[in-house]
Amino acid sequence: MIVFELICSRRHRFEGWFASGDDFDRQKGRGLLSCPVCGGGSVDKLPTARIQKSQPAERAKPKRQRAPARQEMTVGAFIDHVLLNSEDVGKAFPDEARRIHRRLAPARAIRGTATREETAELLDEGVPVLPLPIPPRGEWH
Ligand SMILES: [Zn+2]
Repeated sequence: MIVFELICSRRHRFEGWFASGDDFDRQKGRGLLSCPVCGGGSVDKLPTARIQKSQPAERAKPKRQRAPARQEMTVGAFIDHVLLNSEDVGKAFPDEARRIHRRLAPARAIRGTATREETAELLDEGVPVLPLPIPPRGEWH
């Protein structure tokens, strides 16, 4: 997954997650991208992309090393990745996500719990959150 920082024609900034740079181009080409703040469809990438580091470019390796194919990350692997690379803020998630969105807190990956209503409110406010089907810790096997 690649996180691109995006900007609309009215200079609202937000983040979008894409499978690849091509995925961004494809979605943009089809007019699928819009600004979560103003709904404007004119969205461009800012030049700085934060690439999720746990996915090394394995294409360059010699074939005999046969690294596991990671191009298609499963949902399970993606969730593991999120769990390993984000800070658990628990129930403070909605507030912390807002603070990060408003640049009041350091930008970083966080995870936590939010009710469906809280998630909907965050999305309404243009805060880029991604609901994941991660069970609460008490239900882990
Ligand atoms: Zn906008």
